[in-house]
Amino acid sequence: MSDKSLFSRIIVREIPADIVYEDDLCIVINDIAPQAPVHMLVIPRLPIARLADANQQHRDILGHLMWVAGEVARQAGVDDAFRLVVNNGEGAGQTVFHLHLHVLANKDNGERFSEQNL
Ligand code: AMP
Repeated sequence: MSDKSLFSRIIVREIPADIVYEDDLCIVINDIAPQAPVHMLVIPRLPIARLADANQQHRDILGHLMWVAGEVARQAGVDDAFRLVVNNGEGAGQTVFHLHLHVLANKDNGERFSEQNL
């Protein structure tokens, strides 16, 4: 059994996923169990387990993930209203221990969010 994270296995194509963007630092996939009409995951290639495990050397990667979130939101046509979520730790609902940003939005640009999407 591989000790790679689920997302590392997706990155090396061991497991299929719906990839919507990738570059040298990260990959973006559609969530397999979407919590909103648009639900993408921005995942660094570097397998940082949790946001709290990131250190100063990861600052550029963390900034890049935020920039990519805006880019893919624009590509999906939801840049007027989207939400970014990072679950850090089991107590916060993290289930995959490879850092990822959830990009959540409704399909119509600018449509307001309900608190259910939190
Ligand atoms: P979190 O609970 O913050 O760790 O988020 C993990 C997310 O990964 C959840 O929203 C899952 O639905 C999603 N997920 C799990 N397995 C896959 C997969 N094979 N492809 C795409 N998304 C997945």
